[in-house]
Amino acid sequence: MAFAFFNTLGREKQIFKPVHDGKDGGKATVGFYGCGPTVYNYAHIGNLRAYVHHDILVRSLRRAGYDVNHVMNITDVGHLSDDADDGDDKMVKSAEERGKSVLEIADFYTKAFFNDTDRMNITRPTVACKATDHIAEMIALIERIEKNGFTYFAGGNLYFDISKFPSYGDLALLRMDDLKAGARIEQDENKRNPGDFVLWFTKSKFKNQALVWDSPWGKGYPGWHIECSAMSMKYLGEQFDIHAGGIDHIPIHHTNEIAQSEAATGKKPWVSCWMHNEFLVIDSGASDSDAMRSEKMSKSKGGFLTLQTLVDEGWDPLDYRYFLLGGHYRSQLQFSFESLKGAKNSRKSLTDKVKNLAEKAGIGNQKVQSDEKRPATYGEEVATYIDRFDKAVEDDLSTPRALAELWGLLKDGPASAQALAAVYDMDRVLGLKLEDAVKDGSGKKGEDAEFIREIDELIVKRAQAKKTKDFAAADNIRQSLKERGIILEDSPEGTTWRHV
Ligand code: AMP
Ligand code: ZN
Repeated sequence: MAFAFFNTLGREKQIFKPVHDGKDGGKATVGFYGCGPTVYNYAHIGNLRAYVHHDILVRSLRRAGYDVNHVMNITDVGHLSDDADDGDDKMVKSAEERGKSVLEIADFYTKAFFNDTDRMNITRPTVACKATDHIAEMIALIERIEKNGFTYFAGGNLYFDISKFPSYGDLALLRMDDLKAGARIEQDENKRNPGDFVLWFTKSKFKNQALVWDSPWGKGYPGWHIECSAMSMKYLGEQFDIHAGGIDHIPIHHTNEIAQSEAATGKKPWVSCWMHNEFLVIDSGASDSDAMRSEKMSKSKGGFLTLQTLVDEGWDPLDYRYFLLGGHYRSQLQFSFESLKGAKNSRKSLTDKVKNLAEKAGIGNQKVQSDEKRPATYGEEVATYIDRFDKAVEDDLSTPRALAELWGLLKDGPASAQALAAVYDMDRVLGLKLEDAVKDGSGKKGEDAEFIREIDELIVKRAQAKKTKDFAAADNIRQSLKERGIILEDSPEGTTWRHV
């Protein structure tokens, strides 16, 4: 499969080619870093859109045969209420409000986060790393940046000087002049340029800052951006393939990550491909005539929806997943309960159709796919759908088109075991747990048992045929089973079978 991903850096779709070659001519391991949650509160359903995007990316790459090393940070220190250096520390504020320690808050909301992502069938990252566990790596990286001449110390904080980094702002298409003109009113007077940012705070502006560490610049704590540079490089190397997050991260967080990473290593590009998801927006309640009816769902504004709220109101987390897949990740998506209802109904008829297909194909509740690899080739009737599905996924992860191909196969495709295998294959990207739906609700155990018995009998017959050197008969049995989606595998222990 040849993926083409829209790269924010350059604003164009580019053919994906991993930075590192695979070992022994095999597929490469893809290094992927997705910005994770700041664990001061529950994730809202807008945040979950970002993680579903990461999940679709990881699943698609794995299905295409790549190993993916997926790293996600858990921010438990240093993220201020403004992504630039203004406002309160989100963690400290939340701990104070709730009368808990920062670590208790972090622990509670990290668990809540993974509980949500598990319920959404979002694959867990290979590495989920906490900022507070990586202070030493951050300090080491800041020292490199300092040594290379990109920093200055003022008012008790160590700053990154963006004027020393000529390509600053390339990701966000920012111009230095605009940055100067756009200086904030509440400007930090220690900054030489409005866009400069803190690498290390020593004089905390928060008197109750709970977590501080010794450093070459004095006791203090890191700025927010440095954790992503330090942790991604620790787990993925100094140059890696893909970095993702919501579009809000383009102008500050990711722009600063690039500047400090490349300033430290001197290597360009730090990340080859930047992928950004658009927002989930909600109706703001403003009047129809108001041009700004929709606004971004955000934690700070309050009134945000969590997955648990949806569950409490009787929705299945997979309904919300289905709703998200209906929009391309780079398009804004308007949330409403009416649309969620539509997604719920569609998902219900989808699973009904899959159950139906399983019954017709005589598969029932058998497990069809067990590994993560792609199955062998499909017959022509099924292959057309799979090919178009693959093209949709390859084309910057077009889940709406991919879903349409799944529907096409279920509506117009053959009622065969191969078609069912293809449905499950597609679901390795979509993650709608279609196989579970069949297993849970088939009620077709009798028929399954019969089918399995038939396979077992044919295996015995084939073994006898081989014994009597009737290889043509043995091959016929293998072939006829293959046409029904069953592959026989011989080993010294005997013959086993699996679905295509
Ligand atoms: P945070 O926990 O605030 O750092 O956000 C976690 C992720 O969710 C980041 O990648 C954000 O860019 C993303 N995000 C925040 N709000 C929205 C939204 N309304 N729709 C989609 N993604 C969002
Ligand atoms: Zn980040």
